[in-house]
Amino acid sequence: MRNKSFYIQTFGCQMNERDSETLAGMLRDSGYYESPVRNQADVIVINTCSVRENADKRFFGTLGQLKAVKRERPDTVVAVCGCMMQQQHIIETLKAKYPWVDLIFGTHNIHEFPELLANVLNEREKIVAVWGRAENIIEGLPSMRKNPYKAFVNIMYGCDNFCTYCIVPFTRGRERSREPKAILHEVYRLVEDGVREITLLGQNVNSYQGMVSEEDSEIKKETSFAELICLLNKTEGLERIRFMTSHPKDLSEELIEAYVSCEKLCPHIHLPVQSGSTKILSMMNRKYTAEAYLKLVERLRSRVPDIAITTDIIVGFPGETEQDFDATLNLVKTVGFDSAFTFLYSARKGTPAEDFKDQVPESIKHDRFNRLVNILNITSAEKNKALVGTTEEVLAEGKSKTNAALFTGRTGGHKLVNFKADSDVSGHIVKVLITNSTTFSLTGRASEV
Ligand code: SF4
Repeated sequence: MRNKSFYIQTFGCQMNERDSETLAGMLRDSGYYESPVRNQADVIVINTCSVRENADKRFFGTLGQLKAVKRERPDTVVAVCGCMMQQQHIIETLKAKYPWVDLIFGTHNIHEFPELLANVLNEREKIVAVWGRAENIIEGLPSMRKNPYKAFVNIMYGCDNFCTYCIVPFTRGRERSREPKAILHEVYRLVEDGVREITLLGQNVNSYQGMVSEEDSEIKKETSFAELICLLNKTEGLERIRFMTSHPKDLSEELIEAYVSCEKLCPHIHLPVQSGSTKILSMMNRKYTAEAYLKLVERLRSRVPDIAITTDIIVGFPGETEQDFDATLNLVKTVGFDSAFTFLYSARKGTPAEDFKDQVPESIKHDRFNRLVNILNITSAEKNKALVGTTEEVLAEGKSKTNAALFTGRTGGHKLVNFKADSDVSGHIVKVLITNSTTFSLTGRASEV
């Protein structure tokens, strides 16, 4: 009997990417191999995201395309999972309009996937298995990484913040932190497998609170996020530590000091500001003011002068006036972000902001979006240009996908660098002389490994 193949399509954030690595690991362990072509795979999994309307639309578009695949090859299994499946109205829509979907499961029971898939194949019946809430954290699930030198490591799940535009607390549940020992063990195994850089993942890593269930002389009973970084910093063979995402309201002095004391913690922070208007921040329930955010940036820069700061900004939140938007532009100019993800606000079903008055017309949102992106791009280009002539440490990830004569990698500040090297430097931290820059990347030449 021939081996069966799978294809996983992932929408959304790094948490979803990490979940997809687990799904791929489970499929590999069940004897499947990864197909490079979606429509030829025996099992097609779509891991969904519900943070933005655009991802919803792309998901339904993808499902529409799979109708023809099912018609041609009825034995193909179509499975859907992820945040969208935690919403009842989505499940109803799938049942009513997309009968070619065989398996629906949620964010809290991905560990059940192999069993659910086997049931679909054996019984040839459709299965909907979505848990309403999370049970205990399941450790030790397999994983199949895309990158040999970098890995995502979940340290916590869920979010307790209830920003008014966000569906995550409803789809991913309340905050749950993994035990420090389990995280250390996973990182140790990753390093043994050749990983040089880890990114610690959580919706709000600053509120990580690791509890130790057994007595341990090295690990405290309660471990803060900064303490976890300091523990990981001791891992031999690990070169770099990053994290995503931190909420400004919970960023502690202790974490700022970790940048100074832990040499493996990269000088980069992704610190979503969302708006420069304190009025809008309050309506978003972000629990900090624009002034507090600016003070935080000052404190970070006073302790870590070369830190790269990146952010997320939502344009056109309900009630955003021209004055509020100007406040965002002013904050952006004051901070000088290295780069930013910018989003047009889209109402998410089930969130408080869906019912807010004064929704901003699309044309105004687009106009503001373009003005904001222009300013952000100018700053990004200036920041990159300032690095020309300097020597940066880059973790070489392999050959560039667009130019096989170049290697590609990232600096500690997370800048993308394409560079020439005389030998295969993949997996090494390389000193690269930066010779040129654009808005989004740098080019250079490796000087030594
Ligand atoms: S901090 Fe706010 S935006 Fe981020 S996941 Fe939690 S609720 Fe959503």
